[in-house]
Amino acid sequence: MRPLLPVFALCLIALASAPARAQQADPTISLLQRLSDAPGTAGAEDPVRAIMVSELKPLSTAPIRYDGMGSAIFELGTTGPRIMIDAHMDELGGMVRRIGPNGQLTMQMLGGWLDQALTDQRWIILGSKGPVEAVTGIRDIHVITPAERNEVIPRNNIFLDIGASNAAEAAAMGIEPGDPIVPDSKFQVMNGTGNYLGKAWDDRIGCAVLVQAMQRLAKLSHPNHLFFVATTQEEIGLRGARTAANMVHPDLGFAIEGGIANDQGGHAEETQAHLGAGPGIFLYDSSAIPNRKLVSFVRATAKDNNIPLQLDLVQGYGDDSAEIQESGTGAPTLNVVVPVRYTHAHNGIVNRQDFDRTVDLMVDLLQHLDANAVAQIRDFTPIP
Ligand SMILES: [Zn+2]
Repeated sequence: MRPLLPVFALCLIALASAPARAQQADPTISLLQRLSDAPGTAGAEDPVRAIMVSELKPLSTAPIRYDGMGSAIFELGTTGPRIMIDAHMDELGGMVRRIGPNGQLTMQMLGGWLDQALTDQRWIILGSKGPVEAVTGIRDIHVITPAERNEVIPRNNIFLDIGASNAAEAAAMGIEPGDPIVPDSKFQVMNGTGNYLGKAWDDRIGCAVLVQAMQRLAKLSHPNHLFFVATTQEEIGLRGARTAANMVHPDLGFAIEGGIANDQGGHAEETQAHLGAGPGIFLYDSSAIPNRKLVSFVRATAKDNNIPLQLDLVQGYGDDSAEIQESGTGAPTLNVVVPVRYTHAHNGIVNRQDFDRTVDLMVDLLQHLDANAVAQIRDFTPIP
């Protein structure tokens, strides 16, 4: 009798851990998993900052600097044009607003959520005694009126259920107003494909590009003073990029972001990017218009290196390049993206090839930009 149970148990353990072992064997998957799973809303980016520091501190040629809003600045090189490569650490989430007498919580949303994405979801509240599981309750179909069945529940009517019966029980779990709330969505490789499911790809996919581009450039020669900057509070108004750019004083900058994939039934005019078709650059969004010479330089570099490039224009989208662009006396910038399906939601999807090629593109760009190229891009003198 006795041996049977351990053997059976061991088989289960082996089955359960095989995909996990495969993921651990791939350092890129491990990095993406850690960044996607890390909880970090605007103003509470600490777990993400810890990952960025552990990955990049050994590579930085200068001591890490932080701006007064928590953005972290890592450097490679000491001379040449000052180039800022930016990705934001914060994700869509919320904060606890009020604890009701019945133990229910109301939620202050942080970032651009659709009301339709909020009901019937699992969330994690980062309370003072550790993570607390929560669910946004939904009205029961057996009791609602026919008119209510097809209504989107407005965010002000949404509440979090943590299983508490009264305010004292909620407080005993360590819950207080202001506690950060993140979607409860675990990273996974989708059914053996090159597509990865998880939360917070906006903008942890950009954070991962930052890490791998800096890892590769640390072993290569390049003619620039590079500033890899992990910023804060982008989702509530590009706030950390503004203060970080004031410290970096960039001559030129890139935001690395999640792009908007449109291969799941959207209108063709909304966005042109497809998952798996390579990195993208934004020719327009509602926060910034890129420098046209920089766009040409990036397109030429991608072509020379056989990197497919998706050109996109997206309304209703802002990104950190807008703040870098307007810092100091102004700097040429461009938003470079890894396409993401379902950015501002619990479950997003990115493609591994898109990620790898975006890292390739950034490494090539940061090697080929030099003082001459940056001076030409920054030159607005009319040609006689
Ligand atoms: Zn973003």
